[in-house]
Amino acid sequence: MNEKRRHFASDNYAGVCPEAWAALEAANAGHAVGYGDDDWTQQASDMIREIFETDCEVFFVFNGTAANSLALASLCQSYHSILCHEFAHVERDECGAPEFFSNGTKVLLVPGENGKMDPDSIEECVKRRTDVHYPKPKAVTITQSTELGTVYTVDELQAIGCRAKHLGLKFHMDGARFANAVAALKVAPKEITWQSGVDVLCFGGTKNGTPVGDAVVFFNRDLAKEFDYRCKQAGQLASKMRFLAAPWVGTLKEGVWLKHAGHANAMARQLLQRVEGLPGVKVMFPQEANAVFVEMPRTTIDAMHRRGWKFYTFIGEGGCRFMCSWDTTAEDVEAFAKDLSELAG
Ligand SMILES: *Cc1c(COP(=O)(O)O)cnc(C)c1O
Repeated sequence: MNEKRRHFASDNYAGVCPEAWAALEAANAGHAVGYGDDDWTQQASDMIREIFETDCEVFFVFNGTAANSLALASLCQSYHSILCHEFAHVERDECGAPEFFSNGTKVLLVPGENGKMDPDSIEECVKRRTDVHYPKPKAVTITQSTELGTVYTVDELQAIGCRAKHLGLKFHMDGARFANAVAALKVAPKEITWQSGVDVLCFGGTKNGTPVGDAVVFFNRDLAKEFDYRCKQAGQLASKMRFLAAPWVGTLKEGVWLKHAGHANAMARQLLQRVEGLPGVKVMFPQEANAVFVEMPRTTIDAMHRRGWKFYTFIGEGGCRFMCSWDTTAEDVEAFAKDLSELAG
């Protein structure tokens, strides 16, 4: 394949950002201790502790599915249940890994507008049944930014954290696009994590310019006990760990991660402005991070695909996701929007 065009399918279509690439190159000099006892892993973990302004426990695994499912497994026994939004990645896109790695912990679905749960719907799900025949709710997981391109506000997170505590639930955050949420809200990372009651965050790098390797960040350090064994057993302990850690050093330095995420968000904003109001194109959810969701006729979708544009159509009938990444340019957006304006209606 010799396709150089930048698409709007997923932020994981983008390559490695220059800062992560440079760090990888630097990490490739000479020998280093294996399995995470190296300087790069130490430095990346320390930088994460600095960014969150707390003494958290940090582990690097290969991808987001492993991060989520192993983190969730560490919160639950097999007879427990985990509450998540019905559109959650852990429910729809992880092939049952959270249930598998927790030896059967059931995932319970909670509805909610714009990809978000609220405290009342969480409580309703917990209190639906309290008898021994029902899998005991033990954790709630939310995605920030959400699968539908929206962002939980600080107030919403604090309300969920507070209710979770009241209900005896551990609080997990899927942060595959955490950077986009921080860039959108312009808050300190601690405000939307441990200060809101989050026990463990899966901090994604891959969608924001690293090649591979997501971080599991335990703010509640008790929960990190023996997590290293869990990672190893699951095949998630990288022998050359420095190559998972170095890109984090490259991107966490000097706010690079927020620069890239903020740029992706800005491109989505520009795309929204160019496509909203086109005939037959209906915006589905508020654009708050790096994605735009629209509904449009099948004929328009097919015509865009025929012009070679790649994007996902997985939200109901005619629902399309346009995702921007760290390397999306204003010209890419204009080219895409120009084609859509010619084909819409
Ligand atoms: C991409 C993504 C993940 C991680 O997926 P992997 O392919 O396993 O790295 C997790 N959660 C959300 C919401 C995602 O979009």
